[in-house]
Amino acid sequence: MIIVMKPSTSKERIEEIKVKLSGRGIKVNLWQGDKYCVLGLLGDTSAINPSQIGADEDVDKVLHVQEPYKKANRLFHPEGTKIQVRDRIIGDTKLAVMAGPCSVESEEQLIGIAEKIKESGAGFLRGGAFKPRTSPYSFQGMRERGLEILKAAREKTGLPIVTEIMSPKLVERFVEDVDIIQVGARNMQNFDLLKELGKTKKPILLKRGLSATIEEFLMSAEYIMSEGNDNVILCERGIRTFETYTRNTLDLSAVPVIKKLSHLPIIIDPSHAGGMWWLVEPLAKAAVAVGADGLMIEVHNDPVNAKSDGAQSLKPEKFDSLMNSLRVVAQAVDKEI
Ligand code: PEP
Ligand code: MN
Repeated sequence: MIIVMKPSTSKERIEEIKVKLSGRGIKVNLWQGDKYCVLGLLGDTSAINPSQIGADEDVDKVLHVQEPYKKANRLFHPEGTKIQVRDRIIGDTKLAVMAGPCSVESEEQLIGIAEKIKESGAGFLRGGAFKPRTSPYSFQGMRERGLEILKAAREKTGLPIVTEIMSPKLVERFVEDVDIIQVGARNMQNFDLLKELGKTKKPILLKRGLSATIEEFLMSAEYIMSEGNDNVILCERGIRTFETYTRNTLDLSAVPVIKKLSHLPIIIDPSHAGGMWWLVEPLAKAAVAVGADGLMIEVHNDPVNAKSDGAQSLKPEKFDSLMNSLRVVAQAVDKEI
């Protein structure tokens, strides 16, 4: 952290600040120029509140040298994190492909889709039981019954299941029933929920908030990790921009940026990013090419009659041909599907 003092600050005042900070175990280096005096703080500055320092009338500005996230930071964990989910590993050369309907609608629907996506090579089954809908009048999901159906589909196919949690009250139930707990974009900053999930050891799929910066995204991962759960998988699913043609704007650069900043695996959800089924294939190919560790793709047997997100859902046959075309792209970046 760097503190720039106002030119008018007296030597006594600067010394006073230096002594105060040194007393907190921080090494303070002082550079005195013609006009400005700059204090360079070295050591663990995490307990220092920059807005308190910035409130000092003699302080011109406070600059951060290091990112505010620690556990999620690659600086302290140079190796990429690999997350074990049953017999699969996320963050390794094999891409984690999570596919399935937006919402669980019936046992017949989910098992039918699960069998098809498994044949095509998907490694995980996704399906929403608790749905975060913009309108309270839209389908809200099958809730607890949906979890039972997901478990039945896992039993039948052996695919680990991924589903979204919305309430901290359900953490125990999800830990028991589910293989990966998804935190949706709308709950990325539900800090009570993140903290509760941090007290478990379950893999958490954390989706980027609708308008979240990469730093805010990583700070949400930090909330989970700071409670002791290091099993966080990030998911870029498009962000809100001025563009309205697509549902969201897929931020492909988030992948290499996050790979630089963090050791956590990151997957891409091209379905919620594009919002239209025909965009899924080109975006998924780009995701693999840019270095994503996996994909989350919505697949529905009857998109026209889907209870949610039909327009962005692939029919199983389309998903199958997508998987085939992804194999070539994966190979080009030393990955496999
Ligand atoms: C979903 O995965 O079904 C979902 C609601 O996604 P998001 O939170 O990214 O909108
Ligand atoms: Mn959806």
